[in-house]
Amino acid sequence: MDTKYLQFNNADLQLAGELIRQGELVAFPTETVYGLGANALDEHAVKSTYVAKGRPSDNPLIVHVWDKGQIYDVAREVNNDAKKIIDCLMPASLTIVLPKRSTISDAITAGLDTVAIRMPRSMQAREFLRYACVPVTAPSANLSGRPSPTSWQRVKQDMDGRIAAILCGEDCDVGIESTVLDLTGSKPRILRPGVVTSEQIEQVVGKRVEVVINPKSKVNSPGVRYKHYAPKVPMALDTSGEVSKLVAFYDDLVKRGFNPVLLVEQPHKYGARNVYPIGHNDEQVAQSLFENLRVLEEKYDYIVASFTSRTAFGQSILNRLVRAAGGNII
Ligand code: AMP
Ligand code: MG
Repeated sequence: MDTKYLQFNNADLQLAGELIRQGELVAFPTETVYGLGANALDEHAVKSTYVAKGRPSDNPLIVHVWDKGQIYDVAREVNNDAKKIIDCLMPASLTIVLPKRSTISDAITAGLDTVAIRMPRSMQAREFLRYACVPVTAPSANLSGRPSPTSWQRVKQDMDGRIAAILCGEDCDVGIESTVLDLTGSKPRILRPGVVTSEQIEQVVGKRVEVVINPKSKVNSPGVRYKHYAPKVPMALDTSGEVSKLVAFYDDLVKRGFNPVLLVEQPHKYGARNVYPIGHNDEQVAQSLFENLRVLEEKYDYIVASFTSRTAFGQSILNRLVRAAGGNII
């Protein structure tokens, strides 16, 4: 397939919208990561998303809408907590899980009776969604398991020849995926942490929010159990920031024949070793995390990351790092 590279002008947006309505896949920017869009009302189109990504079909998709009214076309019931969140927080890097309407197929929800819905904060994302005229399912626009793409060039790397078009928009400014919030129970539950924190949600709904970061057996958010965000080379993660420990680990890798790199907060502390800055604050770390993994996997054969932030957003970043490292914590 000859993938088209589209710009943010009227003619190209019209074409992107037409392609979506014809059942084709179009990648588009959001503020979190690039999404792989399909017409949520076309089951065949939705199913082709799983094929293009190599994504397991029991990992449900998020439905993206361009305005608040469209949420009511997708959800069967919008309860009071959801109404407060829609009124006070949206558009945002926040996905809410609600009971689904029958027009939303099992291919989207992996057979669940609920649907995940997001209205992105990115203007470019909402512009594209408006031209699409239909709700649009979109997982991250990467091959399944790989670090999510935060620029159109990274979408091209994974998806060129596999999808109809890529909308070449801005780089993503958040850099990690949306917070997923389940509003179907009596208590709101965060199923996937992101930039919108439990504190922000608690302020709006006036209730405690449960955070289910590491669900074990009974998983309500199926996607969280798969391998995710992994670079092509092995990766280890440290959360102490202890220079001597990282140096010892690195030097041992060198002895074993590796060409490793330290992805760390204070690169200047590691002498002549291979180093790369992870960022100075949570925002910077999140924004460049997946891009850094894709840059470093090309040059080195072992990534040793260190991240010490203990903030709420830091926990969301840590969630991605732990999974990128396949649980290899040192
Ligand atoms: P991704 O497309 O990679 O951002 O993943 C979307 C994630 O949203 C999935 O992996 C699930 O964890 C979550 N999700 C989507 N739909 C639902 C749903 N109906 N109930 C719970 N979680 C969902
Ligand atoms: Mg993804």
